[in-house]
Amino acid sequence: MNETASLRARAEIDLAALRANVRVLRARASGAQLMAVVKSDAYGHGAERCARAALEAGATWLGTATPHEALALRAAGVGGRLLCWLWTPGGPWREAIEAGIDVSVSGMWALDEVTAAAAEAGRPARVHLKADTGLGRNGCQPADWAELVAAARAAEQAGTVRIIGLWSHFACADEPGHPSIAAQLDTFRDMVAYAEKAGAEPEVRHIANSPATLTVPESHFDLVRTGIAMYGISPSPELGTAADFGLRPVMTLAASLALVKRVPAGHGISYGHHYTTSAETTLGLVPLGYADGIPRHASGRGPVLAGGVRRTVAGRVAMDQFVVDLHGDEPAVGSDAVLFGPGDRGEPSVEDWAQAAGTIAYEIVTRISARVPRVYRDDETPPGPSAGS
Ligand SMILES: *Cc1c(COP(=O)(O)O)cnc(C)c1O
Repeated sequence: MNETASLRARAEIDLAALRANVRVLRARASGAQLMAVVKSDAYGHGAERCARAALEAGATWLGTATPHEALALRAAGVGGRLLCWLWTPGGPWREAIEAGIDVSVSGMWALDEVTAAAAEAGRPARVHLKADTGLGRNGCQPADWAELVAAARAAEQAGTVRIIGLWSHFACADEPGHPSIAAQLDTFRDMVAYAEKAGAEPEVRHIANSPATLTVPESHFDLVRTGIAMYGISPSPELGTAADFGLRPVMTLAASLALVKRVPAGHGISYGHHYTTSAETTLGLVPLGYADGIPRHASGRGPVLAGGVRRTVAGRVAMDQFVVDLHGDEPAVGSDAVLFGPGDRGEPSVEDWAQAAGTIAYEIVTRISARVPRVYRDDETPPGPSAGS
C-alpha cells in the first residue's frame, strides 16, 4: 500500500518540478534575482514547503500579499529576503520589522504607520516604495510620487526607514505586445529616476511578474517576481503552454473513485438532473466537490481521467462529489480519478479546467481548499514515460 492509497483525494505537489521551474525562470531572468511568490499558500501548493524548495533552487527572495502570510513563514523558520505588499491600517508593521520582513508602501498613510512602528522597534523598516505605473490598483500615482519619495527620504535620514526597493506591477503583461507594457516601463523608469535623483539608493528595482519574466526581458531590472510560472502553469494560453517554456506542472489533483455502478438508460444524474444517461451505462463517483474548490461552473464540462480514459463531469458538481459517465467501463472502486496534472498519464491540465469553468488557471489552483490534503513528492527524476530518456 502506498501512503496515498487510503486518501479520499489529494493534491500531489512535486517539489522537484518546482525546483526545476525555478531554475528555468532564473535562466530566463537575465541575471536578475528571483522572488518566489508564495502568497495564498503558494497558489494552493503549500507556502512553507514551496518557499523552502524555491530557496534551495536559487530564489533569493520570497513574496507574499499579506503580512500574516509573511509572518507565518518566518514563524516556520523560513529565511531569505521576504517582501509583503498588501497592507491595511493597523499593520502589523512592528511585528514585520522585527521579523526582518520587507514592507511595501504605496501611500502616505502607510509611511506614517511604518515610521512610527520603526521608532518603537528601534530599528529601521526595510521599505519598497510602490509606484502605480498604470495598473490602476495598488501603488502611488505619479502625481503623488514626489511627496511620498520626499517623506521616505526624510524618514531614511531620520533612521526609521531604508528604501530597499522601488517597484511596480503590470496590467497586461500576459497580452504580448499590449501597448500598456511599454508605457508602464517608461513610467517606471521615470519614477525610479526621480526617486534616485532624490537620493534613494534601492537595492532592487522590480516590476516583472511571470508573463513579463517569460516574454519582456527589458522588464527584468534587478529582480523578477514569479508566481504562476514557478508552479508550472503558463500565465496565459495566449503566451504558450507551460511546456513551451520548459515548465512542468507542480500540482496533480486526484481522488479515489468512491463508487462504480451500473445504471439504466434515462437515469438523471446529480442535482437538477442536468444530465441523463442515453443508454445503460456505468457511473463513477468522484469524491470532490465545490467545497474542495472544484468549480461548480465546470458542471457538465470538467475533464477527468478515470480508468485510463478522459471523461467529462456528468451533471452538476455538488458540494462534496460529482459523477462521471464511464460508458460501460468498470474501473476498480478506489482507482484514481485524475482531474489535472502534468499530463504523463494522459490526464487533463489545469488550463483545461480553467477553460471548462470560464476562468484562469490561477483561480483553479488557489481555490483547492484545505480539505484536500497536500502530499509532497520530492524525487529529483521526474516520473512517467519521459524519465530516463
Ligand atoms: C501575484 C503577484 C505576482 C506574481 O504574479 P504571477 O503572474 O503569478 O507571476 C507578482 N507581483 C505581485 C505584486 C503580485 O501580486
